[in-house]
Parts: sequence; C-alpha cells; structure tokens
Amino acid sequence: MKTNKIKVLILLCLPLSLFAIQPNSINAETTKKNIYIEKSLANNVAQSIVSEVGETSRFRVDRGVAQVAALWRKEDGTSEEFKAFCKTGFVADETKLDTLFGKLQRNLEIISGYYHKIDLQLKEPVQLTGAEITPLDELFGGYDISSHMDEDLFANKIAFVTALNFPYYSLDEKTKQGKLWTRKQWAYARMGDRFTTRIPSEILQHLSQVLATADAYISGYNICMGNLQNAGNEKLFPKDMKLISHWGLRDELKSDYSDKKRGKEKQEMIYSVMKRIIDQSIPADAINNDKVNWNPVTNILYQDGKQVPSKPEDNKRYEMLLGNFKANKEMDPYTPQLPTALVRNFEGNMEIPQQDIETLFKGFLVSPEVKRVATLIQKKLGRKLRPYDIWYNGFKAKPDISEAELNMITSKKYPNPKAVEADLPEILKKLGWSADRAAKITSLVKVDPARGSGHATGATMRNDYSHLRTRIAPNGMDYKGYNIAVHEFGHNTEQTITMNDVDYWMLSGVPNTAFTEAVAFLFQKRDLELLGFKNTNAHADNNLALDDFWSCYEIMGVALLDIATWEWMYAHPNATAPELKEAVISKSKEIWNTYYAGVMGGKDEPILAIYSHMIDSPLYLSNYPIGYLISFQVEGQMKGKSMADEMQRMYTQGRIIPQLWMNNSVGGNISTEPLLQAVRKALE
Ligand SMILES: [Zn+2]
Repeated sequence: MKTNKIKVLILLCLPLSLFAIQPNSINAETTKKNIYIEKSLANNVAQSIVSEVGETSRFRVDRGVAQVAALWRKEDGTSEEFKAFCKTGFVADETKLDTLFGKLQRNLEIISGYYHKIDLQLKEPVQLTGAEITPLDELFGGYDISSHMDEDLFANKIAFVTALNFPYYSLDEKTKQGKLWTRKQWAYARMGDRFTTRIPSEILQHLSQVLATADAYISGYNICMGNLQNAGNEKLFPKDMKLISHWGLRDELKSDYSDKKRGKEKQEMIYSVMKRIIDQSIPADAINNDKVNWNPVTNILYQDGKQVPSKPEDNKRYEMLLGNFKANKEMDPYTPQLPTALVRNFEGNMEIPQQDIETLFKGFLVSPEVKRVATLIQKKLGRKLRPYDIWYNGFKAKPDISEAELNMITSKKYPNPKAVEADLPEILKKLGWSADRAAKITSLVKVDPARGSGHATGATMRNDYSHLRTRIAPNGMDYKGYNIAVHEFGHNTEQTITMNDVDYWMLSGVPNTAFTEAVAFLFQKRDLELLGFKNTNAHADNNLALDDFWSCYEIMGVALLDIATWEWMYAHPNATAPELKEAVISKSKEIWNTYYAGVMGGKDEPILAIYSHMIDSPLYLSNYPIGYLISFQVEGQMKGKSMADEMQRMYTQGRIIPQLWMNNSVGGNISTEPLLQAVRKALE
C-alpha cells in the first residue's frame, strides 16, 4: 500500500477534462454557472489567431482557446482581456513552444517537489512513532499545504498559459493516437492534463482533512489479541500481540495455517472479530485496549474475571466512509466530463475504464479454474472450506521453518530502522542489480518507523528521498513486518527509478498505482530468498501461479464490493451511516453468494467487507488485482532475463497510459489469460 502517493495523485494530478468541449454533459446545470466566456466568443478568438499563425496550428488553437474559455472566471478578467490573453499567449513556433514546455516542467517540479517535502515533514508526528499525537499534530496532519497551489497558478495566469498551449487529450484519444507519439509528444500531452479543472481550494482542503481523519482512525484500530478469550476463558494468542485491522488480523490468520493444533480455532476467533468490526457490534472498549478481555463470539467484555458492561463502536467505520464519499462528491460539479468519483478514479487516475475492469474481474471470478483450485485447497486442508480460506496461503513455497524461527531471524537482522536502511543495497544486489546501481537507488531511500502497518511514499522531484515506513517492535522486526517492508521497498525502488531515470519529469512515475503494486509484489514474493532460503520446491512456478490465482480470486471480490459501495452511495447520496452499513453488508453478501458461495460454501458471508482500504483509501482496491495481473505478465516477461535490466527497460517508460505501457513491455494488453493458462498447467 502506498497511501500518500495516492492522495497526492487525487489532489494534484487529476487528469481531468474540459468543460467546453461538451457543455451539454451530465452536469450542464452546475457547469453553466461556472462558464463566463461564451462559446461563440471563444470561437471568434480562435479564428482570429488561426488567421495570424496559419491553418497548421488549427487543432492546438481551437483546443487551447476552448480550454482557457472553460476555465476562465469573472475574476480573471473581462472578455476583452480574455481575447488579449489568448492572442499574446499562444505560441505557434515549435522552438519557442519547446522552451515554454521546459520552463513549465522545471518550475512545476520545484513547486510540487518542495510542497511534498513540507507535507511529509508536517505529518511525521501522526505517521511516525514517537510522542503521543496531540490535537495540534492532527491539525497539521490534516493541513494540505498545497491546496491553494492551483488557485494561485490560475490567479497569476500560469495555468492559463499551460492550458492554452498544451491540449488535453481524452483517454480515448490517448489510446488511439498515443501509439504513434514521440516521448516529447507524450510529455506535452501530460502537460495538457495538468490544468483541466478548477476545484476550489476549500473543497480540496476538506477532502484532505477527511482523508487524514480516516487515516488516523484506521492507523489506530488495533486489536489486543492477548485479551481475546474463548468460551472456556482460554487465551489463544500471545499476551502482547497487537494487530491492526484488517492487515494484521488477516496476516495472523494466514500464518495460523501452519499451527496444526489450534490454527483453525484461532482463525475462527479472528473471523469472529472481523464480523464484529464489519457489523460494528464490536465493543468500543475492545479496540486498542489491553485492559479488558473480550470474547468475540458472545461479545462479552471481562475485567478481573468479571463480566463488565460495554457499548458497541456503533457505525464510526461507516461514518468515515460516508465522510470520504461526501468530500469526493463535492468535486463533481467541477469535473463535468469525469462527473463522479468512480469515473475520476477509473478513467482519470487509473486510465482504464471501470467497465473494462469489472468485465475482467467478473470473467475471472466465474472461470472454471476457481472450482478446481478450491477443490485442491480443500484436499490439502482436509476439511470443508471456510469463508476465511479466501486467504489460504498454502501455495506459498515455504522452507521448513516456523514463523517463530523466522521472527528470530528478522528481529536479529533488523533491530531498528537504521539496520533496515543499511541492508537495502544488499537486497537489490540479491535481486540482480549491480553494486553501483544498488548503491545509487538506495541512496535515495530512507527508512522511518511507522505507527501504521507500513507504507512507501515516493518523492515528487528528482534527487529527493522516497520513504519506507515500517513497523518495528522494541525487540526488532518480526517476520510479518519484514514481509511488508520488502513489499514497500519494491515501491521505493520503482519510485526512485521512475522519478530519476525517466527522460521527462512530466512523464515521471507509473501509469497508475497498479504498476507500482506489481513491483512490490515481485519483491515481496522473494522475501524468503532474500533471507537466504533457497527455493527448493520443484513445483515453484506452479505454486506461484496458484498463489497469484487465489489472491486474485480473493481481492477481485473485495474490489467489486468497493465499486458497488460507491455506486450505492451515489444512488443514495443522503444515506446515513447505519443505512450505509446495511448496504455494504448486503452488497458483500450478494457478491459472496454470486461468486464464492458455490465454491467455498456458506451463504450470506460478509467477510469481503473487512478491508480497511475501503474506509481510508477511496476506490483504491481495484489496483491490487490489476497489480497481480500486471505483475504476472511482467514477471513472465522477465523469465530467464535479469529483473534489474527488464525493470529498467519497462519502468523508464514512465507515466504513459496503462495499455500502451503493457504493449511496449510485454507485447499485449492487461489480461487474465496468462495467469489462467499457468493455473491450468499447474492443475495438470
Ligand atoms: Zn503496496
């Protein structure tokens, strides 16, 4: 996961479109009041510029003037001033245009680079371990220093100069024309994405606050596992085990497969906790509190062996989600061509249409291979499947070593963040990078102790640090923390390469976050190899395919629930938190009954609704399955080649559109077919 970059993306890089091209779109009403320059005037101005600079500039003039007209407000100047601005501001000459581009690119890098640096440092008290978080820390944590940036750039006309000279291309146009573009044309097109919408700063500021609040809520949502008890008042988990929901709970559940004695009992207990979180019947006192004991099945709290009264958490989870929805919805009138958070997320941020994604996921979920793999898992477990077996991890190639031993190894190797940081070049070398490159890349990665489950934050200017935030206990890093840290370091490596080795800053980064998840998965898969364990399993490839397949099966359902939830919120914009809760639970049961019940058994299981991303990272979840698919295709491409070289070749393409990136990299679109093929082979 890499929360911060997503937020930066949402706030700064909305590749949104124009009001003027289709003024009669869905939000015509709300848009109309924003339009100050009439279309006929814009047409006249464009015509007079074309008659001066010539027909060859027709496309750029028409589109540029329309863009400026759509963004121009009363306070920007009179119609005459608009006209004068367009006439003097339009650059027809190619060399001069190139100079203009260079200056804009340089200065935008400086602004966004330093803003990001400030933002990161202001949030340190809430994101990193240290003194208790004060209300003032939270105020600074929710303060978005860059929220007035675009407003200022419009006020001083820099945004208008950009919009006038660099046309915006829709996803459809980028798809059709982008294949033939040069790198410079792509960089120009990304410049054209930069100022296509004008969202008032108070709306951005509000969104930022809401996201920060949800982030703090989730980061502090821990379950003290040593305080859970069963009907016989037995504790099944170690006394000091504290797990964050849902990541920690899920990972513990996974590792319980190796506990042959009481593993299943532990998993059932964790699932009871999850259901209490989902339906919000969890006692408020059972969250982040080791002073009381809790039986999650009966939902009774105990103190000193005696039953004590309790109050449920009562819908706070869904209030957070609703807050996110409302803050996102406030942007709708200002982005009329991408008129909802869903469209902004899929066509805008991911640059893959929502319809394409749903078709891909649903096709995968009903593939006949699902049932065959489930039967195999059932055989391996020697029991009927339970809902939480969506997290079955028995396909992972594991050495003959227990988690306790792994914990000893990792905690000894990584007693503190400094030790992790010092080892990063070694990790890259083991993955195939030369000593030089490894040193260069890791010189730009810093390791910080996180309060939450760990995440990676990239820089937004060249030669700045990316940060690996990781959770390290006082007695050193446990294996679960290590496994996550390796994943996050994959992000950092991608972030460093795509920021520093891509030819244009405007093209820095990846097409969307799924592409960075792909690298993170590639790293994470090798975590044991990195600890020095040889992969001795002869069926390693088959196992990896089965493991990827099962992970996709699990997370695609979760992603579909995320989408269904947002669609429901849009259909019921005035819903209350209790209504939203009911809707999420009923949607999750519906998806379960459609795609899982026939395979896993059980009816009306709510388990898909446990993901914390749904609460603090709006619509992020689809990135994971897309990431798995991309990662599978990318890894297939790397087979027999150097991972370091191939990564350098593919990722230095930077932020072009996803399908083009894939075609250049692996010779085809994003597809489930290579994975399904590999699974069929594995099953044989
Ligand atoms: Zn990640």
